[in-house]
Amino acid sequence: MGSKGEEISSVIKQKIVEFNKELSMVDSGVVVEVGDGIAQVHGLSGVGFNELVEFDGGAYGMALNLEEDGVGIVILGDPKGIKEGTEVRGTGRVVEVPVGEGLIGRVVNALGEPIDGKGSVESSVSREIELVAPNVAIRKSVDTPLQTGIKSIDAMVPVGRGQRELIIGDRSTGKTSVAVDAIINQKSEDVVCIYVAIGQKAGKVAQTVGLLESHGAMDHTIVIAANASDPAPMQYLSPYSGCAMGEYFMHKGQDVLIVYDDLSKHAWAYRQMSLLLRRPPGREAYPGDVFYLHSRLLERSARLDDEHGGGSITALPIIETLAGDVSAYVPTNVISITDGQIYLEPELFNAGIRPAVNAGLSVSRVGSSAQTKAMKGVAGRLRLELAQYSELVTFAQFGTSDLDDATRNQLERGQRATEILKQVQNAPLTLEQQVTILFALTKGLMDDVEVSEIQNFERDFHVYMASNHSDLLNKIADSKDIGKDLESSLENAINDFKKSGFRND
Ligand code: ATP
Ligand code: MG
Repeated sequence: MGSKGEEISSVIKQKIVEFNKELSMVDSGVVVEVGDGIAQVHGLSGVGFNELVEFDGGAYGMALNLEEDGVGIVILGDPKGIKEGTEVRGTGRVVEVPVGEGLIGRVVNALGEPIDGKGSVESSVSREIELVAPNVAIRKSVDTPLQTGIKSIDAMVPVGRGQRELIIGDRSTGKTSVAVDAIINQKSEDVVCIYVAIGQKAGKVAQTVGLLESHGAMDHTIVIAANASDPAPMQYLSPYSGCAMGEYFMHKGQDVLIVYDDLSKHAWAYRQMSLLLRRPPGREAYPGDVFYLHSRLLERSARLDDEHGGGSITALPIIETLAGDVSAYVPTNVISITDGQIYLEPELFNAGIRPAVNAGLSVSRVGSSAQTKAMKGVAGRLRLELAQYSELVTFAQFGTSDLDDATRNQLERGQRATEILKQVQNAPLTLEQQVTILFALTKGLMDDVEVSEIQNFERDFHVYMASNHSDLLNKIADSKDIGKDLESSLENAINDFKKSGFRND
């Protein structure tokens, strides 16, 4: 062999050494097509499902479709600057968001970046947004109430900490209001609240944030907003981000309330993304895994056992129905994943019965085991009275003159119950306030109050009790029960109020 041969072999040897060096890192690919927030990428053969990828220029994306000859990536954030030929690198990480106390009081986007103009978020911890739900072996059954402060819900469809209770109803039936009131009511309860706004108009979200602020509720609340004008992938991610932020507190032993407002729009965002990723459409053009989309989210709400800190995440997902159709694809899915539903009805809403809770169709499959004794005592009777009332009310339309006394009494009681369950927005009541007024109703102590005066009666009653019988209220608050002695003192107090405080004229 001549020197030429040696030269070639040394070049080859050197190449081999360098080849090894080059092999060491970086899984990269090249954008071959981009549009509608989706990039089709050639290469990236080692990327994982849900892996965060970085485009040349700094934008991030998430790998969703892994195919033989390429990867479908949803672009997170601004797709400007990404074009055919742009280089993409894998990061080896899945999407994470900052978590921790520093987020409380803030409004952030789906990636946990502040959008409230109050500077950067203080957080040194981050958490993957998609994590496996807590194992059943470390869970405990629901046994503590999550008071919403709304009479018709706390009495008839009680929610327990760690439960998933769906709020379902047509457009503009007060769904958001119920959830926001529940958040406001946690002010004195030591529950961290997370409000995830998905696909709503920015103005509506701003209104909700303003409402929370004016009631001092932002002090215990994180708002995550992925508005209608934001790209579908951000809307898709937002509930998972919110859940990750909640898990941080749950694993520290705290109680969390999370509202997903709403999952119908979340499913739309996912459908849009999936169609753009050219996944085959199924029923109602949703991709086949839309059930899994919501089940893996809601399954992460849990009550941990004491060994694991005893923390909890209570979820109030919201679903908007079209013309009351609860049998559409997404509503039936979410109904089957949750532990019950609060069904809000436009007919009731328009008749002025607000919150428009349909007592017959609303259920809570676990919350009643978390209801306090005091509430159980009055609520059982209330449900019965309302049920009997709704049966009789149809007859009563034909006139009440020839009804017997028992039936007439039943009707009168039902009318009063309906009045008592009306409640204005943003005025949550404490357990003892709810229990005392429902006690007055179910004991028949309001039978002689005109139906049209019931709401005034209640308003004055709470004022009277607070100034004259705070000891009684405190006793109920502490013992969460109305024993025999309390019962008679309460009855006396109510009669005194009727004599002195309230003019029934
Ligand atoms: P959307 O479908 O637009 O999200 P929604 O079902 O979330 O609507 P809300 O926005 O909560 O409904 O309420 C609709 C309207 O009803 C609002 O103007 C709100 O102020 C009013 N409203 C809600 N609850 C009550 C209540 N308890 N008493 C009086 N008004 C109420
Ligand atoms: Mg709403």
